[in-house]
Amino acid sequence: MRIVLLGAPGSGKGTQAKLIVDKLNIPHISTGDLLRGAIAAKTPLGLAAKEVMDKGDLVSDEIVLGMLKDRLNQDDANNGFILDGFPRNVTQAAMLEDLLAELAMQLDHALLIQVDPDEVVARIAKRAEIEGRADDTETVVRNRLNVYKEQTAPVADFYKNQDILTEVLGKGSIEDVQARIQAILRF
Ligand code: ADP
Repeated sequence: MRIVLLGAPGSGKGTQAKLIVDKLNIPHISTGDLLRGAIAAKTPLGLAAKEVMDKGDLVSDEIVLGMLKDRLNQDDANNGFILDGFPRNVTQAAMLEDLLAELAMQLDHALLIQVDPDEVVARIAKRAEIEGRADDTETVVRNRLNVYKEQTAPVADFYKNQDILTEVLGKGSIEDVQARIQAILRF
């Protein structure tokens, strides 16, 4: 199964992706994690990405696409994957479509996790205390939410037009949201 997870920062995409992985045995591919990995490894690409990420802006489409391409070419992605954090704008959605066509693959589902903006801000503030992520400060979070509204939210329409979009209510416990997702994916 090939799944794209959409939702605002703090909507719970990463948490839900990990639970889906446990059940379906397909890799969780998070472009945010791939970028943080490049930063930790101090690669030139990571160093360039860090400045952009620390401001809450989007890293260039070409850089992220290159990383994603390498990841999708690994063997464990042959039978499916959960993509988290990509596509983040309509250009990336079109790039993903071309890349999957090259690999003779098709998406099965795009899930949009819907959470109130106030709830999202509260969740990120809590995560900031626990994880201390560089981009979880108030000003940067506000920018990430704006970038989401302006650039990422339109990606949902892209998949709606392809008839593979399903909206998932992101309210309630982690288990509640997971149960809704499993009902949609039917596993
Ligand atoms: P969140 O969804 O909570 O903002 P992520 O870990 O998905 O967290 O992303 C963190 C940052 O990594 C983003 O603000 C952005 O700078 C960068 N990033 C992640 N994925 C992409 C992408 N597909 N395109 C461009 N930048 C990305």
